[in-house]
Amino acid sequence: MTKVKSISTKKSATVSKNKHAYDLSTALQDMFGFSQFKGDQEAIIHSLLNGNDTFVIMPTGGGKSMCYQLPAMLLDGVAVVVSPLIALMKNQVDLIRGYSSQDNIAHFLNSSLNKGQQKAVKADLLSGNTKLLYVAPETMTKEENISFFKDLNISFFAVDEAHCISEWGHDFRPEYRRLREMMDNINTSVPVIALTATATPKVQSDIVKNLGLRSPNIFISSFNRPNLMYEVLPKIKVDDTNKSIVRFIQSHKGKSGIIYTLNRKTTEELADMLKANGVKAVAYHAGLDGKLRATRQDQFLNEDVQVIVATIAFGMGIDKPDVRFVIHYNIPKSIENYYQETGRAGRDGLEGKCILYYSHKDVSKLEHFMRDKPLSEREVGAQLINETVSYAESSVCRRKTLLYYFGEHFDDSTSCGHCDNCLHPKEKVEARDEVITALKVISKLGENFNIEYVINILIGKLTPQVQMYRHENLDVFASGNDQDANFWNSLLRQMLLHELLEKDIVEYGLLKLTKKSKAFLKKPGSFKIVLNNTFENAQADEDEAAQATHAAGALDEALFESLKTLRKKVATEKKLPPFVIFLESSLEDMATMYPTTMEELEKISGVSKGKAIRYGKPFLDLIRAYVEENDIIRPDDFVMKSVANRKNNKIFIIQNVDKKIPLETIAKQKELRLDELLEEMETIVASGTKLNLNYAIEEMVDEYEQEEIIDYFKGCETSSLQVAQEELADSNFNWEQLKLMRIKFLCEYGN
Ligand SMILES: [Zn+2]
Repeated sequence: MTKVKSISTKKSATVSKNKHAYDLSTALQDMFGFSQFKGDQEAIIHSLLNGNDTFVIMPTGGGKSMCYQLPAMLLDGVAVVVSPLIALMKNQVDLIRGYSSQDNIAHFLNSSLNKGQQKAVKADLLSGNTKLLYVAPETMTKEENISFFKDLNISFFAVDEAHCISEWGHDFRPEYRRLREMMDNINTSVPVIALTATATPKVQSDIVKNLGLRSPNIFISSFNRPNLMYEVLPKIKVDDTNKSIVRFIQSHKGKSGIIYTLNRKTTEELADMLKANGVKAVAYHAGLDGKLRATRQDQFLNEDVQVIVATIAFGMGIDKPDVRFVIHYNIPKSIENYYQETGRAGRDGLEGKCILYYSHKDVSKLEHFMRDKPLSEREVGAQLINETVSYAESSVCRRKTLLYYFGEHFDDSTSCGHCDNCLHPKEKVEARDEVITALKVISKLGENFNIEYVINILIGKLTPQVQMYRHENLDVFASGNDQDANFWNSLLRQMLLHELLEKDIVEYGLLKLTKKSKAFLKKPGSFKIVLNNTFENAQADEDEAAQATHAAGALDEALFESLKTLRKKVATEKKLPPFVIFLESSLEDMATMYPTTMEELEKISGVSKGKAIRYGKPFLDLIRAYVEENDIIRPDDFVMKSVANRKNNKIFIIQNVDKKIPLETIAKQKELRLDELLEEMETIVASGTKLNLNYAIEEMVDEYEQEEIIDYFKGCETSSLQVAQEELADSNFNWEQLKLMRIKFLCEYGN
């Protein structure tokens, strides 16, 4: 859905009749080879050809550049395109030249050209053959260029990435603020088209104002990307997050993805961690030299690399249509950044998953980064971070929240079906009375305060600012203290989404009543809300999840097979069952963590110090040789923490077995299945701790059967319980019985 909308000018929403005589469809076909226009392109081009100032808000991939390229070709004179992306100008010019037989049809003028080159470009411009000229904003502001531009026949100015003009945008460029002045110096009668792929109502109004657009026709395309799936996950511990990412990527085999992080160091570390887990990944950040960056970008485009781990420096001008996932390892600085970056997924309209890992700690880190910035920038930055935090913590449809941010209303009467909050909706609570309380407070405060301040008044928090205004004396002070700050934050955010409140655009963030809120006060109705997720209770859940699926499937299959062969050989020599040497799960751990020293070996699950000394050496030799031969980078961090994690279960299990608690109960308390519990118990026993499970065995296995199984284990040559089951088929034992008996066997004969 696209719409024509005016922001500050309140003019009619239709473009006036065409004053020109160009046949756009034919021109599009002849010059660019396309048979039809996309979205609003045609109406936008008409507007510009009619000589109107025009403002285009269109998401990336919507065909923004055509809106000025085609009119530039048609009109007399040269169109001057202001773009902040010097690095991309050459590409853009090459693209245009590709449509023409003459190179002088398009040029760029910026600091990357030497004097001679600049002279040649200017000569072409004066000859009148050039239709499109790309310039950096700095070029426009140079005195010598201004007098040169005055002599040119300029068809129109196009200001690309127009959000750079606003400090509320995600990429503020102070030079953009001088563009109006420069354009006026050159020629006041030239029409202007401004374009951006992302703009909030605040940024939109800044653009119209600062660029001095004269009664512009404004075209806003929908920002909804229906094929993108949004999800926010808690980020508690680094190794759990890493495991979760590895698991996710491994379940998306061969599909391209981008992981965004805040700093260069993390890109390198994450890429190493992924490589160690068998994912083809590379790091990408501004600290790498240009050549290496270009190589890595190509590797990603050609799919020699599956995952690119990048700072925000990656992605400008990258057009890979089949990126299947975008993961944010840290919370982004603003919703605009988030939207831009997630927008790189699923450009082809097919699957695109967007996962954000959220933690309070990352928010503090972001705030910390801004510490040395000037006050005004810090205030703006803090507001933008706040919006992102509220997006992350919200239990409302992600799509609705994102689109609201861009001034678009998304009808959520039916679930969007493509975000975590719609797929797992939280229960709604009635908040009719609280809406009234909140509206009364805001009204009493003269509609002059922001969300945080209103909450402080509601809960009765005496801050220095409250004291300064003496608001503790208001009768509404603490009128909402039966609810906590999280409740009020949830409520106010959802009132905004439902237009029961609005934020002032000029004095950004001040809460104002609306028509709807006044109607609500007169005749209150039901208003149900979902409470925000505070991400405080999420820790336990995430821990359990990480433990339940141990080893994260990051197994090196080739190494695992070699280790199994070695174990078989050692077992035969020592005339012991293989599982007594090392458990299968211990070999799996080794093939994931690559231990190469005795110390590291002891950290592998199911390996005690004694066992490491007794059996470890040939295994370490094998792993060391393997690591060297295959240039494996070992995931140190990953090793240490995944081991520490399992210790909690270990102590719990030992204590409960001592108390003879039924196994089902222990399993339930740790949210494990019985088979998972037995696996953990076997690991504990294999590493040298005795567990007396007789109380449980008595319930499950008859005495004479116990003897039969133990005898079998004494002579068996396999660690497979399935084989054991087949060989003992006459007695028809189930897996749990055999597993329990093997744990008992390990206790008695294993160490
Ligand atoms: Zn949704």
